[in-house]
Amino acid sequence: MPKTLFLGHKNCRRHDMGQGHPESPQRLQAIEQLVRATDWQGKLSFVDAPKVDLACLGGIHPKHHVQALMELVPEQGFADIDADTRLNPYSLDAALYAVGAALHATDQVIAGQAGNAFCSVRPPGHHAESAIAMGFCLFNSVALAAERALASGMSRVAILDFDVHHGNGTVEIFQDRPEVLVCSSFQYPFYPGRFDDVVRPNICLTPLTAGSDGAVFRQAVERQWTRALRRHQPEMIFISAGFDAHRDDPLGGLNLQDEDFLAVSWFIKDLAGETAQGRIVSLLEGGYQLDALARSVVQHLKALVE
Ligand SMILES: [Zn+2]
Repeated sequence: MPKTLFLGHKNCRRHDMGQGHPESPQRLQAIEQLVRATDWQGKLSFVDAPKVDLACLGGIHPKHHVQALMELVPEQGFADIDADTRLNPYSLDAALYAVGAALHATDQVIAGQAGNAFCSVRPPGHHAESAIAMGFCLFNSVALAAERALASGMSRVAILDFDVHHGNGTVEIFQDRPEVLVCSSFQYPFYPGRFDDVVRPNICLTPLTAGSDGAVFRQAVERQWTRALRRHQPEMIFISAGFDAHRDDPLGGLNLQDEDFLAVSWFIKDLAGETAQGRIVSLLEGGYQLDALARSVVQHLKALVE
């Protein structure tokens, strides 16, 4: 059985939104440290992500929007995009490596060079709408990866998002694209409060009240997503893997524990085996308590490598 890829790049750590910002370079450091200290029995391969050029963003993000972001990049210090999203001189570069990881992982899995892949990258992407960067996100990497799979000849794909925040960008981008199923679980009501009431056959929303625990989360997700996925029959599954629904997370208000991330990952892997020949590309989104984040990623990877 082909391996699981773990993609990252050191330049993803150069994007920094200032001291005390929860979406910090230390997140990737914490993940990598624990992942590298875990014995994967040869089933996990570490890969340096390539950088994409700006032209690769065109399928999702209009040129004028990308150009405006480029012009905003400061020579030093910070440039604010919104109250909690800002650029330093290296932010755009980091985002192009994050997209590069997503696209390379997609190509490798489609080519059968790997069974599945996890991209340990930042900035995250699922809040990025086609022409709005927001919520710590610049480019919507998971949307670009899904688009890549469709461009390679697949006719149906699915994006599953279990970040504590709703993947508004992904829904905005694909709400009128029936070939892309988007399933998103999220605390509700909560940030960002956009595109969380879209009614379409290809959009499956799973709002959860604050304080919901792993049992509630798993029951809701398994019931709704199984039905949606069996109906859609995706040829490939993408995951917006946010770990901020963990009960230790300082931003989220749900109460998942480490093992819930193992369980939801197994559940997704089983369904990918049913319809998509096991093809999964998973991308890091949120997760801000460093220890809980690193442990939860390891649980996620445990399901992917088996
Ligand atoms: Zn989040």
